[in-house]
Order: sequence, then C-alpha cells, then structure tokens
Amino acid sequence: STRPYATQTEESIGVEDKRLRMRAWQLNGYDGVEGLSLEMARIPPILRPSDVLVKVHAASVNPIDTVLIGGYGRPVLNIMRALGQLEQGIVDPNQTELPITGGRDFVGEVVGVGQRVRGISVGQRVLGVVSPQGQGSHAEFVVTPSSNVCSLPDDVNTEEAASLPYTALTGWSAVVVSGMITPGKALGKRVLVLGAAGGVGSFLCQLLSVWGAQVTGVCSNDAMDLVASLGAEPLDYTDPSTKPMLTADKGYDLIINAAGKDDLEYLSALKPWMGASYVTLSPPLLTNIDQRGLAAGLIKSAREIACQNLTSLSEGRVYKWAFFMPNTRALSHITHLLATHMIRGVVDGVFPFSQTPQAYKHVLNGHARGKTIITLT
Ligand code: NDP
Repeated sequence: STRPYATQTEESIGVEDKRLRMRAWQLNGYDGVEGLSLEMARIPPILRPSDVLVKVHAASVNPIDTVLIGGYGRPVLNIMRALGQLEQGIVDPNQTELPITGGRDFVGEVVGVGQRVRGISVGQRVLGVVSPQGQGSHAEFVVTPSSNVCSLPDDVNTEEAASLPYTALTGWSAVVVSGMITPGKALGKRVLVLGAAGGVGSFLCQLLSVWGAQVTGVCSNDAMDLVASLGAEPLDYTDPSTKPMLTADKGYDLIINAAGKDDLEYLSALKPWMGASYVTLSPPLLTNIDQRGLAAGLIKSAREIACQNLTSLSEGRVYKWAFFMPNTRALSHITHLLATHMIRGVVDGVFPFSQTPQAYKHVLNGHARGKTIITLT
C-alpha cells in the first residue's frame, strides 16, 4: 500500500468521496503563473510514520513560489526529492516532479497522523511549513513531518498566523544560524535590516526588537510608518543621504539583506574586526546551479563567496549566505511570541483560494508590505 501509516484519515477528513480527492493549484510544466490551474488531485498520503496530514485553512504566497513555477532551483530540488524518495524506499526512475503544487507554509487542522507522531493529534489547529522538496500548501490538504508543525491557540487570527511560518523560519536562519545572534545575545546589538517592510523584514524588525536589539529598518518612503510600528528605526532608501550615512556609521553588529538583491556597499556599515556579518538571503547558489549544472554551479558559488570574503575579511567583516531551514524549536518560539501578542503577522493582501493566480501576480508586482495570503475557509 502507498499509505502504510495513515490513521483515522478518511473518517477525520469527513469526506464522502472515498477516492480522496482534493482541489490543488498545480503546474504541469514550468510556465509560471499562466501555467497554474486548479486540479482535482489525490490527497497526499501519509507515507512516513512521523508525518501529519493537515486540512489547509490559509497559506502564504512567497517570492520563491513565483520563481519555482518558472523552473528556478529545479536541479537542486530534484536531487532533494530523489533523496526524500530513497528515504521512503521509493525507487522509480520514471517518476517526475510534475505536477508541482506551490506554497511553503500553512495554518490548518490536523486530520491524520502517522503511527509515530507524538504531541500532535487529529483535530488540533496548527501552523507549519512543508519541507523544501515537499508538495505545497496551495491545496486543500498537505502532508508534512510533525516536527514542521506547532499547535496554534484558537484565538490567533488565521491570516496573521499564516503570514509567518516560512518567512519567520527564514529570518531565524539568517539571524541565529548565519548571523549567530541568539535570543540571549541580542540585547543592545545593532542590527540593520534591508527590506524591512517585506515578509522576512517585517518579521525580523519585530523579533529583534522583542529580543532587545536596536533595529534599523531600511525601506521605501511609504513604508516608514509601518516599519516604525514594528519596533525599528525606519530609514528611507530612496533618500540619497541614507546609504552614505549608514556606510559611514561602521557601528552595526549584523546586517540582514532581505531586500531581494544584494548591495555590498552596505558592508561598510558593519563594525570592523568584531566578527560582524552581512547575511544575504539572495545567494547566487541556485541560479549558478541552474545555469551551469550541479558541479560547475557549486564551484562558481564557492569561488564567489571566497572572493567576497577575501575582500570583506581583509576589512574585518564577514559575508554569509542564509537559507530557509525547518526548525521545530524556532517555530515554537515564534508561535509563542505571536500567541502572546509580542509580535504580529503583517498581512499585505488576502485572496480567496479561487483567486490564487491573482495572489501570485500580487507578489510578482513586488513592493510587499508584509505577506500575501490565500484563504480556504
Ligand atoms: P518581499 O518581496 O516580501 O520583500 C522585499 C522587500 O524589499 C519589499 O518590501 C520591497 O519593497 C523592499 N525593497 C526593495 N528594494 C529595496 C531596497 N533597495 N532597500 C530596501 N528595501 C527594498 O520578500 P521576502 O521578505 O519574502 O524575502 C526577501 C528576500 O529573501 C527575497 O529576495 C526572497 O527571494 C529571499 N528569500 C530567500 C530565502 C532563502 O532560503 N535564501 C527564503 C525566503 C526568501 P519596495 O520595493 O517597495 O521597497
């Protein structure tokens, strides 16, 4: 059977249709938004004993969804998918990654659990992420390891909660894993967030402020009030005096670039010779591999980061990359901050599930002020 571990699934989903189909926004090629179509797909099976099946109530649309559907990152994701299938004992050389369903995170209700799941049960409201190689949440149901979900109190707003899991774990990875600023070490640290009004930036301004850091948020003029409301000192990048002022500052402990494009002139804003880092969320790795293949792409990327660090290390500063990473403890910390109103989810726009392609187009238009959400309830 393909569902050796599923328990209670049919009963708890409450579907009369025993073929267990669901609606999902899918792509059968890499044609971008125009290729998205609403299909009746099979409800994803629980294949591993640690998986949970979730009925999706809301999900965010991320910039990565809008580029994955054009083929960005395809070689790396295919390797990750193949490794994931090997782990499950599936060896099928003819299996392709298509159709693809986008969506990296969700809020929903658990409707099925694998045999070894502990601490998460059917009926629970959760928020969570899917694994990078997993099928997405722009569908009525999604399967993910139970370590990727966290229980969500009933009184937390669905759309706000759905705005956080993917961007928050990405931001956490940038600050804690790459930037090495942990909750206990943030007090008084000066952090510069580039792209402060976007999905990742609007979360980071709040998280770092709550941890006691002094946050400067670089955004465009119309987003200054929003960024100030998130606890950061806003600075307008369209003002020509902003960048020279920051690069002359030389007092920042950490810079996170969540603006979509690297600007290495900001490296000079860091304190020299104090282990201060510039962490980018736009590393060239996947683009290099897309263009040159795995081996040559890895070599080019390694050379680029080494060259960049030859320059910045000689000035006593470090240049690093960051990537989204699932992280159970971080998800729980973030959910606690949300549930206790220490942070909020910043929502840019809400689209019904039927208008998912419009939500993708909204994200593609750029100038995000928080997250774009699709709702299924
Ligand atoms: P968003 O699109 O939500 O936010 C980007 C923000 O940057 C927008 O508010 C935009 O608004 C602003 N911006 C654009 N240009 C500048 C500038 N020069 N200075 C300051 N702000 C600027 O993106 P996300 O927050 O979701 O993601 C941030 C980046 O991180 C994206 O490039 C994304 O692809 C990447 N990412 C990488 C991941 C990884 O694993 N490496 C995972 C997730 C995201 P405006 O144009 O109006 O100023």
